[in-house]
Amino acid sequence: MNFEDLIIDVYREVENLEGKGETASYIPELSKVDPSKFGVHISTINGGSFGAGDFEEKFSIQSISKVLSLILAYRILDFEIWNRVGVEPSGTAFNSLFQLEADQGIPRNPFLNAGALVVTDILLSNLENPQDDFINFVRSISNNDSVDYSKKIAQSEKDVGYRNIALCNYIKSFGKIENEPADVLDFYYDICSLEMSCRDLSELFLFLANDGIDPKSNREVLNERQSKRVNALMQTCGFYDESGEFAFKVGLPGKSGVGGGIIAVHPDQYSIAVWSPKLNKKGNSYKGMRFLEEFTTGSELSLF
Ligand code: GLU
Repeated sequence: MNFEDLIIDVYREVENLEGKGETASYIPELSKVDPSKFGVHISTINGGSFGAGDFEEKFSIQSISKVLSLILAYRILDFEIWNRVGVEPSGTAFNSLFQLEADQGIPRNPFLNAGALVVTDILLSNLENPQDDFINFVRSISNNDSVDYSKKIAQSEKDVGYRNIALCNYIKSFGKIENEPADVLDFYYDICSLEMSCRDLSELFLFLANDGIDPKSNREVLNERQSKRVNALMQTCGFYDESGEFAFKVGLPGKSGVGGGIIAVHPDQYSIAVWSPKLNKKGNSYKGMRFLEEFTTGSELSLF
């Protein structure tokens, strides 16, 4: 399959669409990002690498980082992690509170803010130097020392983080957060503030297309069983309450973030990252979704 020609064709087609939606304005720093940015990069398990547009520019990966924190916590607790967080799609917005009451503080899945806060709490309890250990973990699995937090973005989110404060305290009230909510939140904002480019992301996530093994270094990031489960969660819960729509239109496990990035994985084939900051009403990148829909259709490769 010649992915390069297809990427160029689809990129040109989607680039010219009128980009609907708005950049995420509830985090002030994110609303300053140039809405016309558009990048894409693919990495294949047999060594292929190709990008178009702004694929080397770093952006705020936001909720894509929830996969990374989950992976580290999964390595630490293995299956016991599922006692703290569920594996069901929620059908609610990413920052919703209401299911937590019926579920007694166990979030439906790790990609909701509630679930990611519990995962952050697990990391805080288990890492010696949480901020340093987490960034070192991300750098090591991506073979990339340039990955870093953005203190500016983290602070900007913290300044207006009323909803996340409510979520974290509410979960704590059920006894399901072990640490002080303020510490969990600070670490959570740092994790969300990671900045990476489309190239960085597609290279980093390639192990999920290869049964948990990074094909470049041959290192195991997750075992095969764990890798299968993370892909299953991305397939069913990776796109807020638009996860069904993404599966329907694109048909790949993936994860989006309110910075406008999307990572998607085709097991045994490739990982692909797209970035375009204007978001649709559900919080997913408008052009990113369109690009991936056209790309997977054009590639005639499908999991289904
Ligand atoms: N840091 C963002 C928040 O907590 C993440 C949102 C997202 O990308 O889904 O609201």
